[in-house]
Amino acid sequence: MQYMQSYYAIELRLRYYGRLPDSTSIQGASVVGELGNETVDVRRWKEPPHEYLANMLRNERDFCGPASVEAFVRRYGILTGQTVATASRFFESCINFTAFQEKLRRAWQCDHEGLLEIEAQLEILDVISTQIDPDSGCVVLATENLWTFICFFFHRDLTARKAKVCKSPDCPNPFFIQQRKGQLYCSHVCAVRENVRRFRRAEAQARETEVPRNSGKRRPNGVTKTR
Ligand SMILES: [Zn+2]
Repeated sequence: MQYMQSYYAIELRLRYYGRLPDSTSIQGASVVGELGNETVDVRRWKEPPHEYLANMLRNERDFCGPASVEAFVRRYGILTGQTVATASRFFESCINFTAFQEKLRRAWQCDHEGLLEIEAQLEILDVISTQIDPDSGCVVLATENLWTFICFFFHRDLTARKAKVCKSPDCPNPFFIQQRKGQLYCSHVCAVRENVRRFRRAEAQARETEVPRNSGKRRPNGVTKTR
């Protein structure tokens, strides 16, 4: 029955057609602005949006600050701030933005509630079109919803066991996508730091066990220290 499976298998592509802002400004704890007509070119992203979002640093009040939210919006498009799909004006609240980051972080740490939030978004889907690509025959879904796009790609990486948290306890960007099997640290810097730590711990342990052996008390009778 192998041929039945291949017959019914459908390849699916998800495209993101979010628009980039023409203008942005910070108003209190929000970023406001106007979306332009230019859609995001995902090939220009150096980092996938789920990895970037999860690692965004928070300020002293435990929020993603307006300057960092503005930088995100200018690179990836808006995350939560569009109330009407066709409207150009947007209002990205740092509080809502941080709440979405928290959902993603919790899911990345395999928290049950966090994973349910992501799966709920996959059910909503929120696509603007569904087409069959005439060349490849695969189904192409298009979305303008960045959160939908993020949830899909995060879920794909999680299912492939590639969405990992860096094992270095003081890593500033701990959420990473594994590039090779068995990779424990997000970067070479973290791997080296933890190697140095391990080496120093081993050295300290070795020193501790050496001290009693070399101390004067344990010196055999008749042996005197000479200079
Ligand atoms: Zn790290």
